[in-house]
Amino acid sequence: MSEILPIRHQAPLPLDRLILADAPSAEALEMDVTIVGAGPAGLACAIELARLGKDDQLNIAVLEKAESLGEHNLSGAVVNPRAFRELFPDLEDANFPFRGHVDAESVYFLTGSRALRIPTPPTMHNRGYFTASVCEIVRWLGERAEELGVNLFAGFPVDALLVEGDAVRGIRTTPSGLDRDGTPGTSYAPPTDVTARVTVLADGTRSLLGQAWREWRAVGSANPQIFALGVKEVWEVTEPLDRVIHTLGWPLPADAFGGSFMYPLGPSQVALGLVVGLDYHRAALDVHELLQRMKTHPLFRERLAGGTLLEWGAKTIPEGGYYALPERRYGDGLLMVGDAVGFVDVPSLKGIHYAMQSGMYAARAIYAALKAGESATGALAAASLAPYDRMVDESFIVDDLRRTRNMRLAFRDGLYVGGIKAGLMVATGGRVPGGRIDMPADAEVPRRVGAPDSFTPDNTLTFGKLDAVFKSGNATRDTIPSHLIVGRDVEADVADFYTHVCPAGVYERVGDELRVNAPNCVDCKATDVLGPRWTPREGGSGPKYRLM
Ligand SMILES: Cc1cc2nc3c(=O)[nH]c(=O)nc-3n(C[C@H](O)[C@H](O)[C@H](O)COP(=O)(O)OP(=O)(O)OC[C@H]3O[C@@H](n4cnc5c(N)ncnc54)[C@H](O)[C@@H]3O)c2cc1C
Ligand code: SF4
Repeated sequence: MSEILPIRHQAPLPLDRLILADAPSAEALEMDVTIVGAGPAGLACAIELARLGKDDQLNIAVLEKAESLGEHNLSGAVVNPRAFRELFPDLEDANFPFRGHVDAESVYFLTGSRALRIPTPPTMHNRGYFTASVCEIVRWLGERAEELGVNLFAGFPVDALLVEGDAVRGIRTTPSGLDRDGTPGTSYAPPTDVTARVTVLADGTRSLLGQAWREWRAVGSANPQIFALGVKEVWEVTEPLDRVIHTLGWPLPADAFGGSFMYPLGPSQVALGLVVGLDYHRAALDVHELLQRMKTHPLFRERLAGGTLLEWGAKTIPEGGYYALPERRYGDGLLMVGDAVGFVDVPSLKGIHYAMQSGMYAARAIYAALKAGESATGALAAASLAPYDRMVDESFIVDDLRRTRNMRLAFRDGLYVGGIKAGLMVATGGRVPGGRIDMPADAEVPRRVGAPDSFTPDNTLTFGKLDAVFKSGNATRDTIPSHLIVGRDVEADVADFYTHVCPAGVYERVGDELRVNAPNCVDCKATDVLGPRWTPREGGSGPKYRLM
């Protein structure tokens, strides 16, 4: 049987275009702090910093690649409210942008036709938390940041870090208005440089700039980061869902790690999705198609009957946990927060409150370093930003991740062995089985080549990829240059593999060749993990999520 080793076909990280030793342009904007990415992590950082520095008139910029805040954010989501309460001590839970309170929950093991209710594992308890759309959370946090004087630049993807010696001095944005061949068209707008004393990388899962900075500064981790791909839909439904639901088992094969979620979003909407670890073994596994198949199970079909698909989207999740955390998350002129670091607890599928809390710690460390600094210019020295790591290490963020440190990693041996090991870990607070379980990077896991399962969407309950992308609101200009870097030796089998990896139908096999329909991309980053590299493209491209 033939196999594909994804890493063999992957292009190297284009470090020479991501780390630039160029002097900032003469028109560069000068900021005290620049934050890359307006997700929960970046916005919580901006809000906390603006509040701390209100008498110091700090210049804070947040750059976001989506055209409007929230359009590139996707989550489940059930939210642990503790970071909201800490960031807004004067507000009540009822003031936060949540859709509802979690009063009941159920976990099921699915077979093709049955749903067996199982006891809720301790790591999956959600009572007392809130359901929400992260797009709405981000829009709300953006308004709070703006009220505090933060400069929000939506539609400005960051293309590269500007460096001087070992220090990060700022960023350069992506140009817009290029024609397909890369030449400036009539609407061309050149890149903008923004200098800052600290640049905060809050650019989320599979952070491109974080990968580049870590490779450049040789910042390692005990295990490589690993990822899952989540494909999600929001439906208008005829009857309210009264509980939070998680499932394990069908339609996933036993050698793939993952599960589904179905959450109520108020009385008339439901969010549902399937999350699958990208270390699966079958080259033809297709997460989008598995989600479509999953909806035909009575548990979902009955819930969605008579309803309408409102929105569709996809995104990766960092799943490596404690052992994949970078050995440091700060350097000269730089900090990393949120998913860019990998602050996600996989057993509970939670990242939003860790992202926000890490953003707040970053703000506190930056503010203290700015106040203590002897000079008023230049990048802040790494040593002055080191307290950020200490705050994170002593907090519930690292504590939670340490407790579940081997739980996801146990599943590299398959669902059943993993389930037993995970049970032992819960019972012993993470101590048994002891030691670190080694994990290869997802791209180093070989894939078995084989025929895909046949799937024909009915366009009522199940949908093909092109209809799904339409439901993401993606309206990227057709004549945009490709932002995806295809590696070497991409023959027919590998082309097929990419076709299945990408939930948005970007890759197509035509004869034995790979065709890349780059405008379809929804920035989920799955192929950056397993295949063609993702790079930023002109501002405002990609999905326009409202409800994700
Ligand atoms: C399917 C799924 C279900 C989940 N369910 C839950 C849940 O129920 N509860 C929970 O707590 N967590 C959940 N999570 C995890 C949670 O969503 C994340 O941990 C959280 O959103 C991370 O926040 P962040 O700010 O670090 O990153 P993000 O929310 O991803 O924000 C990063 C921002 O940076 C922007 N950006 C990226 N690159 C650039 C660039 N080069 N230039 C400018 N901007 C850039 C992006 O557009 C984005 O707006 C889930 C995740 C997924 C994918
Ligand atoms: S091409 Fe875009 S949408 Fe497809 S997997 Fe890669 S990042 Fe995701």
